Amino acid sequence: MPHILDGKELSALMKEQIKKQTAEWVSQGGKKPHLAAILVGTDGASETYVASKIKDCEEVGFDSTLVRFNDDVSEDELLNAVRDINNNPDIDGLIVQSPLPKHISDEKVIETILPSKDVDGFHPENAGRLALGMPTYVSATPAGIMFLLEHFKVETAGKNCVVLGRSHIVGTPVSLLMSRNTYPGNATVTICHSKTQNLAEITKQADIIIAAIGKPEFLTADMVKDGAVVVDVGITRIPDATKKAGFRLAGDVKYSEVAPKCSFITPVPGGVGPMTRTALLFNTLKAAKKEVYI
Ligand code: NAP
Repeated sequence: MPHILDGKELSALMKEQIKKQTAEWVSQGGKKPHLAAILVGTDGASETYVASKIKDCEEVGFDSTLVRFNDDVSEDELLNAVRDINNNPDIDGLIVQSPLPKHISDEKVIETILPSKDVDGFHPENAGRLALGMPTYVSATPAGIMFLLEHFKVETAGKNCVVLGRSHIVGTPVSLLMSRNTYPGNATVTICHSKTQNLAEITKQADIIIAAIGKPEFLTADMVKDGAVVVDVGITRIPDATKKAGFRLAGDVKYSEVAPKCSFITPVPGGVGPMTRTALLFNTLKAAKKEVYI
């Protein structure tokens, strides 16, 4: 059976470390880290994500502020809220929970966030710094995946790594991280997307597969070679009347049949999800300590 890349376990460990580092920093006169989150609308998943992020802040001793808007907030009003937070010296980091309503430009919002407060690492300046291997806020999901691979000592150098998905928030940054000259990294990376042909032929060559496409149970056993490392980023809510919440979470990997073939695999839930939350705390502490931008 595979080793489980247990994100729940590692995030608990890392949160303890972040809590300790925060207490030390504050006791030496450092500023208490403060994360602000903007939430637009009442999407169930977004509500859950933001509530978890606020709870995480409390757990590790950060301050947090939640700014809420209705779905019909104008773009100007939202951008002004971002500017207010940019100008608020007490707030170190800002996240704007996606998805945003269609009448609001994601790009404008991201570009309005001050790079030094962009703890999601989505601003072009931070994405560019990542591409150039400069100090930056690595966006939370790719950063969380790197923490997992490192903690569980997964070998990456010289390995064939296939990334499924090329989004700005997961596929593209994780492929850059896996190809850079560090550990984890030094892999030979192939990025696949919806126009890729013969996908199964490509995934079957992979030593490491990182699946981030949002298609439940897409990756099946016949697409994976024996001994592969599989990181499942996907989270899709599947209606399920037997669950109290009315849904279950499914990853991009058909876990029951893929796991027995793997050397390492992430579960869903309990794999990449908790690591994403922890990586955001890590970035917020970096912001309070001004480790990336003076
Ligand atoms: P996204 O922006 O929708 O991007 C999906 C990517 O998958 C696109 O590049 C798309 O290709 C590609 N794709 C779609 N169908 C494909 C197929 N049949 N074969 C190959 N590639 C295909 O998604 P995202 O934001 O990266 O998120 C991906 C998944 O991860 C979602 O389930 C999301 O909920 C989850 N997620 C989880 C976490 C976490 O913390 N665990 C964090 C972020 C996201 P094109 O570019 O050609 O359209």
